[in-house]
Amino acid sequence: MREAFANYINGHWVEPKTDNRHQRENPGNTDEIVCSFPDSGAQDVADAVEAAAEAFESWRFVPAPRRAEVLFRAAEIMAARKEDLARDVTTEMGKVLKEARGDVQEGIDMTYYVAGEGRRMWGQTTPSELPDKFNMSVRQPHGVVAAITPWNFPIAIPCWKLMPALVTGNTVVFKPSPFSPLSAHNLVGILEEAGLPPGVVNLVFGGNEAGAALVEDPRVVMVSFTGSLEVGREIGTYCGRNNKRVHLEMGGKNAILILDDADLELAVEGAVWSAFGTSGQRCTAASRMIVQSGIAPAFTDELVRRAQALRLGDGLDATTDMGPVVNMQALGKIGRYMEIGSDEGAAIACGGMRASGDGLDNGYFFQPTVFTNVRPAMRIAQDEIFGPVTDIIRCGDLEQAIAINNGVQYGLSSAIYTRDISKAFKAMERMTTGIVYINAGTIGAEVHLPFGGTRGTGNGHREAGQAALDSYSEWKTVYIDYSGRLQKAQIDRLEGDRG
Ligand code: NAD
Repeated sequence: MREAFANYINGHWVEPKTDNRHQRENPGNTDEIVCSFPDSGAQDVADAVEAAAEAFESWRFVPAPRRAEVLFRAAEIMAARKEDLARDVTTEMGKVLKEARGDVQEGIDMTYYVAGEGRRMWGQTTPSELPDKFNMSVRQPHGVVAAITPWNFPIAIPCWKLMPALVTGNTVVFKPSPFSPLSAHNLVGILEEAGLPPGVVNLVFGGNEAGAALVEDPRVVMVSFTGSLEVGREIGTYCGRNNKRVHLEMGGKNAILILDDADLELAVEGAVWSAFGTSGQRCTAASRMIVQSGIAPAFTDELVRRAQALRLGDGLDATTDMGPVVNMQALGKIGRYMEIGSDEGAAIACGGMRASGDGLDNGYFFQPTVFTNVRPAMRIAQDEIFGPVTDIIRCGDLEQAIAINNGVQYGLSSAIYTRDISKAFKAMERMTTGIVYINAGTIGAEVHLPFGGTRGTGNGHREAGQAALDSYSEWKTVYIDYSGRLQKAQIDRLEGDRG
């Protein structure tokens, strides 16, 4: 085991007030214990919130370009340590090293990008309707932000949340997933090293209980959550009742539309990458292939062939194409969906079982799986399975494909492969997801554009891009009257004005 971690509160690494600890195992080799970390309780959370609330009173007044300098330094450190950070990502959650490097790079990109906002963060200045009066709007921070994150992008997602929250002047209590404590520890250590003042970011390890205590602390004014729909809905309900700002990023049931005129090779490549990258455990993973009848036989054969050829194994091994899933519960859930799909009348064209042999027995490996004969209403075509499983759903034409694409409770990402520009634009306009790709798979977001989804995927906020600033700040509108007399908007008007 590498290390026994402590929480990070008010600039110190402190032991929790509970005696409970969890261990994180390597999902690719459960004999390897990666680290142990506190299962924090309500008192630990309260201490962290207290520190963040105190730090807010000074951090909010640090000029934004100075706040950004800390982030620039953090990005530099992350870039210098990219390889080590990536190896840690692979070790604790299983994605292959190439993808883990991408995860870290996304965190670096986001940190640089947001640091640049320290010198922008534009508001509006507009003319006033009255003479000798000046109008503008400026951003102001919320206060203490709770950042609650999943394990599947253990560097990128915390950076998506922490960096915009910090540059806009908030302070943060960060509660990472119990399945990715090592990356959280690494990231907060880097922020400390970059010179973030005590209390500005606090790290509390733990599970659902610590998360719930954080959401419910009255000093937490905003919750930024990424995770499952079930938990997000609970958090959203609590925040709604208690008038807290809340930003929810939840699941997906993303589809790729493959029309008869698609470039078959390109479409299959995009499908394999989107369905089986990160073992299908991306919120944007393509778990549905909506395929027009003419191309369906060739596409299915090729997808199955490519899925069967994927090499499973340790993500640190350069020859591995697909790593394990995150834990035993995930393995169990994916297995149950094999039964559900079969009971519903779908056929398993490849995969369908836990993978074993060849060094896989000590890890949570599941075979890349393709379901065929899938109808849009089946549970396997509606529920987020979050594993290396995708469905082939046949469709007649573009209209039908779009209707199937939109007919799920989630609305994160969708893609279409076609050579017909009119069909591409029609799909772009009518697919009701937050992200649309043309002639590319469902994954591959860039940090300077808004990221998020419609329906059950989100609550209208977006991560990344300029949109992130809107989540982590509120507008303050300022009117400056230098006329030296009482002027009444809407009432004082020039002689001869109409009305
Ligand atoms: P999860 O909902 O189980 O847990 C997410 C986080 O919430 C964890 O830190 C967990 O400890 C915490 N938590 C659990 N119960 C809580 C409660 N009652 N109160 C407060 N916090 C609580 O999700 P997961 O398994 O970690 O992640 C997988 C899910 O995340 C998938 O549904 C995936 O689609 C989604 N996801 C969405 C996006 C996106 O941007 N839309 C990105 C990545 C992952």
